[in-house]
Amino acid sequence: MMKEHISNKQIVLNQYVIGYPKESDFGVRFSTTNCSLSHGSSTPSVLLKNLYLSCDPYMRHRMSDHVSHPGTIVQSFTPGSVLVGYGVSKVIESTHPKFLEGDFVWGMIGWEEYTVITNPESLNKIKHTDVPLSYYAGILGMPGIAAYVGFHNMCSPKEGDSVYVSSASGGVGQLVGQFAKLMGCYVVGSASTQEKVELLKRKLGFDEAFNYREEQDLGLALRRYFPLGIDIYFDNVGGHMLDEVLLHMKVHGRIALCGMISQYNIDDPEGLHNSFSLIMKRIEMKGFVGTDFKHVYPEYVELCIKYLQEGKLVYVEDIAQGLEEAVSALIGIFHGRNVGKQVVCIAKE
Ligand code: NAP
Repeated sequence: MMKEHISNKQIVLNQYVIGYPKESDFGVRFSTTNCSLSHGSSTPSVLLKNLYLSCDPYMRHRMSDHVSHPGTIVQSFTPGSVLVGYGVSKVIESTHPKFLEGDFVWGMIGWEEYTVITNPESLNKIKHTDVPLSYYAGILGMPGIAAYVGFHNMCSPKEGDSVYVSSASGGVGQLVGQFAKLMGCYVVGSASTQEKVELLKRKLGFDEAFNYREEQDLGLALRRYFPLGIDIYFDNVGGHMLDEVLLHMKVHGRIALCGMISQYNIDDPEGLHNSFSLIMKRIEMKGFVGTDFKHVYPEYVELCIKYLQEGKLVYVEDIAQGLEEAVSALIGIFHGRNVGKQVVCIAKE
């Protein structure tokens, strides 16, 4: 029989973040959570024990005090409140008929040990537990579906295409590169360290990779790897990288705007100077949000698990241990400290 109240360690936002997030922007709070769910209530709910947290770049937007733009999908966190993000959890109590005690789920949860979810329909029930559960914070979760639809639906890839992926060793990039290889494309990735470059070439199967921080002239680097131009650019970083790539695209090239992490922590975002290339080269450049493609998710999971089992896909995670390490891990992704998809393990099943 579970106690009515359980102690609950939580990560809160202390204040809105200006510039790069720092440790003092966050705090640890010890709270108690009422875990006796009211059976028969008109709003069925579930009590979750949280296992893995996903450190996602978009969370930076939620740390700013910004006026929501019409149609925006990111609302600011409230200072003093618990951070919320994607994660993987175990149901330990439920009054919802679809979720049973012992089920594993992924979806939006608090950065805390236990979360009560009053709209459990927002959660995804995990069917396949024969893969590591942490995968549902990455390859089998939000970043995975973003990589899949971003590449296949936005880029119209075909065999032989030349594909460039920035932030290539991260949660999304490592998958895009492999999806492109599976289609028979020539794939080049960039990353910020030699270790990541080696990972891309030796483990993730990219044809080529380079350290963008070491290149004095990005244009020369792109010409070196794409002497005939780029068919597809999968953009994870935006800014001057995107601007430079425009000059190296082929006629009828495609650009998927997945993310712009190089711009998230600066006050004055860089502009595009080479956008005339979009017209002259008839380039299709399209932004997308992976979670708009929920209908593709069931098919994606089955395919992805099959590819993992067949060894056609490999997946690299960077797992921090303990809720105490969560803030540091989250801050780390904005400095390129993660090697692979950054998750935080906060409890064992
Ligand atoms: P990630 O790559 O796992 O982690 C972030 C990486 O970004 C870092 O490791 C670092 O890699 C790079 N980075 C950090 N600061 C940078 C800077 N100032 N300039 C250039 N690179 C920088 O993150 P992810 O989850 O795969 O996300 C990648 C991008 O996709 C992000 O922009 C994110 O917002 C976006 N995203 C979009 C969707 C969608 O639905 N549209 C979904 C998920 C993610 P290096 O060390 O290699 O520089």
